[in-house]
Amino acid sequence: MMSVQITCPNCASSVEVHPDQNAHKAQCDVCNHSMDVTFNLDHVQSILKKCPVCTRQDFYKQKDFNRKIGVGLFVIAAILSIWTYGLSLVALYLVDLFLFKRLPVVAICYKCRTNFRNVANFSEIRDYDHEMNDRIVYSDHDFKGKPLSP
Ligand SMILES: [Zn+2]
Ligand SMILES: [Zn+2]
Repeated sequence: MMSVQITCPNCASSVEVHPDQNAHKAQCDVCNHSMDVTFNLDHVQSILKKCPVCTRQDFYKQKDFNRKIGVGLFVIAAILSIWTYGLSLVALYLVDLFLFKRLPVVAICYKCRTNFRNVANFSEIRDYDHEMNDRIVYSDHDFKGKPLSP
């Protein structure tokens, strides 16, 4: 089932919820802030067309990669490379290549940055578009699910 990770607007904690047509509020465990959510039948079937938090229809997808772990591994490999004559960096590169191919995909709402995992229609969602992001975030433009580039 699709999992929805909302960023609490009050304290920036992650709030994870699963689509439920009977649920109209999501509550932050940390600060008890409650947020309006609107789930429809699509969401229950793991189809992402409309954001349950901000009701926009513009999303992008990216690899679900934890950058902090990646940077940590690189530092360790760089230190080890002093003794391994750079071999650890080669090993890290291979691990990275292997991991990256297997990483799951996450869809993200341009407007409210809600994260969606286990989405059934990932193939319909485009990669990140810098111009769309700027127009949505800074000019509050609503693309209504129609990507900028054909
Ligand atoms: Zn909160
Ligand atoms: Zn949204």
